[in-house]
Amino acid sequence: MPIDAARPYDDQNIFAKILRGEIPSTCIYQDEWAYAFPDINPQAKLHVLVIPKGAYVSWDDFSAHASAEEIAGFIRAVGHVARAHDLVAPGYRLLANVGAHGGQEVPHLHVHLFGGQPLGPMIARR
Ligand code: AMP
Repeated sequence: MPIDAARPYDDQNIFAKILRGEIPSTCIYQDEWAYAFPDINPQAKLHVLVIPKGAYVSWDDFSAHASAEEIAGFIRAVGHVARAHDLVAPGYRLLANVGAHGGQEVPHLHVHLFGGQPLGPMIARR
């Protein structure tokens, strides 16, 4: 069910629980700013989710309210995960769904990182 990205942060969302260790996940990478783990329902050979450690609903909330340090740390973490998987030469795709039209289901900002295969058209053709 897509979320309303304009709503306040709900600290009971599933990624908040993952960050607190209340729900299991496999850590691919983490630092002060970000946590990366495999998507439970992978849509490509490699499908990793990278989330900020701070409480932000979406890219919109993050870009409007996160500090410059949080933003830099998160963006660098996404790049680090891609490089650590040798994805730069073959290429990869980043996706951040926002709200209902974006199809966002979990109300904690996450960047999907897809790779390991040609990824096809940018959005589904109708
Ligand atoms: P979005 O539609 O952009 O909000 O994507 C949410 C993503 O979270 C989906 O790709 C789900 O497969 C993924 N997901 C949901 N629960 C978990 C979980 N417990 N561990 C890893 N990925 C999850």
